[in-house]
Amino acid sequence: MSSDRKRILSQLAGQTVSAHALTHAHPDHFGSSHAVCEQLRIPLWCGEHDAPVAEGERPAPGQGRAAKLLSKLPPPQPHPVERRLNEGDDVAGFTVLDVPGHSPGHVAYWRESDRTLICGDVLFNLSLPTMRPGLREPYASFTPDPPRNRESARKLAQLKPNLILFGHGPPLNDGGRFVSFIEALPA
Ligand SMILES: [Zn+2]
Repeated sequence: MSSDRKRILSQLAGQTVSAHALTHAHPDHFGSSHAVCEQLRIPLWCGEHDAPVAEGERPAPGQGRAAKLLSKLPPPQPHPVERRLNEGDDVAGFTVLDVPGHSPGHVAYWRESDRTLICGDVLFNLSLPTMRPGLREPYASFTPDPPRNRESARKLAQLKPNLILFGHGPPLNDGGRFVSFIEALPA
């Protein structure tokens, strides 16, 4: 979020960072991107179909009444996207995967050598009301195309990852649990 700017910059202090790559352009994932890129003088990278939102367009709304309210909130400060990512691109040894649904240009990052998957919000490992860990599909109020997102989840399950890193919730060191959760989703 925009309000996390200071915390993120202090966590990055002393680290060498050469680029800032998003999983998707939702306010809770790129709210501080402008500040981070300016401060560290690094380029912003983002999935091709989310780049217009990172650059200031309104995002596609989710489902239901809450989505309408959310769409009225002021958007984060935009920032130019220097590199538009697509399926198969390399980002620091990770392969970019197109996984649309939660947003049109959502991407995941996959490193086959140790089967690590950065899945963003294709699944959550957190229940928002209780703040307890647990796998679930992303909330419909933030997801413009839930069926498409479910297809994207199935694509990720086929990878059989060992370690999965989420946008929301702790890392999951149990690929079997990830795969069986997705396989049990309704058709
Ligand atoms: Zn999110």
